[in-house]
Amino acid sequence: MLESILEEFSIKETNAGAHNGRQTIPTPGELITSFSPVDGQEIASTCFVNKDTYDAIIANAVLAFQEWNAVPAPKRGDIIRQIGALLREEKESLGKLVSYEMGKSLQEGLGEVQEMIDICDFAVGLSRQLHGSTMHSERANHRMYEQWHPLGVVGIISAFNFPVAVWSWNAMIAMVCGNVCVWKPSEKTPLTAQACLHIIQKVFEKNNVRPGVCNLIQGDKEVGAWMAADTRINLISATGSTKMGKAVNLAVANRLGKCLLELGGNNAIIISKDADLNMSLIGAVFGAVGTAGQRCTSTRRLIIHEDVYDDFVSKLKSAYQQLKVGNPLEAENHLGPLIDKDAVINYLHAIEEIKKEGGKFIVEGGELEGNKYASGCYVKPCIAEVENNYAIVQKETFAPILYLIRYKKLEEAIALQNDVPQGLSSAIMTLNLREAELFLSAKGADCGIANVNIGTSGAEIGGAFGGEKETGGGRESGSDAWKSYMRRQTNTINYGNNLPLAQGIKFDF
Ligand code: NAD
Repeated sequence: MLESILEEFSIKETNAGAHNGRQTIPTPGELITSFSPVDGQEIASTCFVNKDTYDAIIANAVLAFQEWNAVPAPKRGDIIRQIGALLREEKESLGKLVSYEMGKSLQEGLGEVQEMIDICDFAVGLSRQLHGSTMHSERANHRMYEQWHPLGVVGIISAFNFPVAVWSWNAMIAMVCGNVCVWKPSEKTPLTAQACLHIIQKVFEKNNVRPGVCNLIQGDKEVGAWMAADTRINLISATGSTKMGKAVNLAVANRLGKCLLELGGNNAIIISKDADLNMSLIGAVFGAVGTAGQRCTSTRRLIIHEDVYDDFVSKLKSAYQQLKVGNPLEAENHLGPLIDKDAVINYLHAIEEIKKEGGKFIVEGGELEGNKYASGCYVKPCIAEVENNYAIVQKETFAPILYLIRYKKLEEAIALQNDVPQGLSSAIMTLNLREAELFLSAKGADCGIANVNIGTSGAEIGGAFGGEKETGGGRESGSDAWKSYMRRQTNTINYGNNLPLAQGIKFDF
């Protein structure tokens, strides 16, 4: 099965370090071999881009921008429409490759490709709606309006956990806005990126889009740092850990460039005494164990009202007993492996820290062993009762560890939810309108995403996605997030016979 998918996306034969949207570019850089966390098998290799190839790719992107921004936006939209159509055809194959290279369940792999299709559809509509406003001028015979122009080259640095969807959120919107893009995927998932560029190449060839509009460069944080410092890149959109975001932000600020940051979360669901506990259970369990706890929106903390605490915890325990961990391509398994052995070490270290700080495990964790788990990347999803102020609880551990915290009053629960450095996703489970509205008010959750009767995990592409505080403040995907990929220009036009100055200033000579 996999062989044919690799062949379909021309992955086995490339060994390439870069792609300019029309062809793969062999690079004499360091070889990266991608091993699947599912079974530890080698999938294929590709090369890190070297500095010369990197410079050539960026220089070519700068040239490509001059042509691409002259293509009318609805025509750019039509190209994105064709990418969406091809993604529909390739959904099954690309979804399987995502699942095998990253380790998420096949359902989630397919869901990720569906998100790519959805953002293509959104971008097509947007291509006719890149609207500015008009204003009334204070001067007679004057007209004022604002318009939006593309920025230029958009650099996209992405994380391993959404290896393709996050790129598409950025690339499809950036390209429809008239930008060209350069993508550096995670060094942990290089092959799914190669497959995406294969799809782009087919559409670009058919439409004679010049090389350089949509580029791929493979590499690690060194290549990411080249991008952050590169004055030829007008916007850096970076998704990953807060540590990475701080480094990128500093480098981009140093050249007064633009940055869009999508960083770590530490997401909580408040479960009120007025919650539908069965619905809450689905939201909490999927949020905590989906993608093996490796989503930026994964549920890390449950803040549960004391009146329903025991009842809910017993439901949770019985749900956890039914969870199956194993090959994510097999439909019966709820969660697959962590991305690599380092992630397992981090998970085990977090468990030690929780114990040291006084946390009590009500569902024990640990590494899974045996033939089924031969890659060494499988762990048990676990649950611990903790205090919100433990140092380990304040951090994002990218693994299926769920923390439980009790509360008495909603104001206290909201304060606990907000009392972490991150601010991505939050939720309340309640059938009480007053509670729901307080949670959504300015006195409520301080996150970029706040949900009612839905968990924290996952989001639809139609809304602007992103978070506050150490999550970085960026917004991507739907709503008016497209404005981050454009520059605003205010225009004032005088169609009269004299030149009055603003604010009535007199200047006669
Ligand atoms: P990571 O920070 O290790 O790497 C992310 C990307 O940044 C990779 O491409 C990596 O090569 C690059 N990178 C790392 N250090 C860099 C540096 N100093 N300069 C330039 N580039 C650098 O993150 P990861 O382990 O791949 O992903 C997990 C993290 O991503 C979690 O914290 C998760 O919450 C976050 N994430 C956030 C969102 C969001 O939308 N908020 C979405 C997905 C993942």
